[in-house]
Amino acid sequence: MINTQATHNLPKRMDHTRTVAASLLLLACIAALSFASAGAKVPKFDSGKAFAFLLKQCEIGPRNPGSQGHLKCRDYLVATLSQYADKVTTQPFPLRFGRPEQTVEAYNIIARFQPEKKERILLCAHWDTRPWADEDPDPKNHDTPVLGANDGASGVAVLLEVARLLHDHKAPVGVDIVLFDGEDAGTSGSMNSWAQGAQYFARNLAPKDRPVFGVLIDMIGDADLAILKEANSMAAARPVVEKVWKIAQDLGCTAFKPELGSSIMDDHIPLLQVGIPCIDLIDLDYPYWHTVADTPDKCSAASLDQVGRVLVHLVYTY
Ligand SMILES: [Zn+2]
Repeated sequence: MINTQATHNLPKRMDHTRTVAASLLLLACIAALSFASAGAKVPKFDSGKAFAFLLKQCEIGPRNPGSQGHLKCRDYLVATLSQYADKVTTQPFPLRFGRPEQTVEAYNIIARFQPEKKERILLCAHWDTRPWADEDPDPKNHDTPVLGANDGASGVAVLLEVARLLHDHKAPVGVDIVLFDGEDAGTSGSMNSWAQGAQYFARNLAPKDRPVFGVLIDMIGDADLAILKEANSMAAARPVVEKVWKIAQDLGCTAFKPELGSSIMDDHIPLLQVGIPCIDLIDLDYPYWHTVADTPDKCSAASLDQVGRVLVHLVYTY
């Protein structure tokens, strides 16, 4: 993902009327369901297990598209999610990236829970890691793939633990966990080169599979975690942002800050462009972003815990 100017990447094809109508409907749903949720049983997010999922991905090594680690991690994620979900599929697509440009096969991984349920929540993260540490202070590292402990593994780790809970405790709503590929092989100045997996997913989503709303998590493992209200999420899916921040406040999750953050090009943008209110939980203030130093020692289980608990609450109090 990459930081952008606020006016620069607001979805151009977003149908404003549809977005407003969807927002109103969403508000009504949230109000009704918040009331209904009193007394709902919320399972306990195990941050130790989540951190183990982060370490496991990093043990595989860099997971940049086209590499051995990429295929190995795909198989690991499919095998792990298959233990928990009702249905797991991979969605292959051609990923074009780099200079000179190359094309490799990339794979979104889709895990569905209670697929028979019409009302669904989308939880998503990217699982690929950046092919080049082009923000590294040492230019010698600029062609080295990053390990992506925070930028890649952290979001996936939280969602794997959520998947485990969804298997053991039936949720009151259908959930789709989608791990996007090809998020982080973009080039600055070329907006469509980022979030290619999410673009492909959004283009090919059947109307019957559309979620009520979505939450994207990215770079949420930073030991010094501060999640601001990302600007595009606020512009296009504000009721979801407010709902999530209310839960965070109720649970004492102080990493969720009340301030408005900057505008970020990430996997939620293609979803917003097709009218799905999807927010991005992200802390881009991370000194090791796109460097070879994005390693597990910069991350903490406590940070995964805050995000995980909020998501679990969001799902089980639906
Ligand atoms: Zn990145």
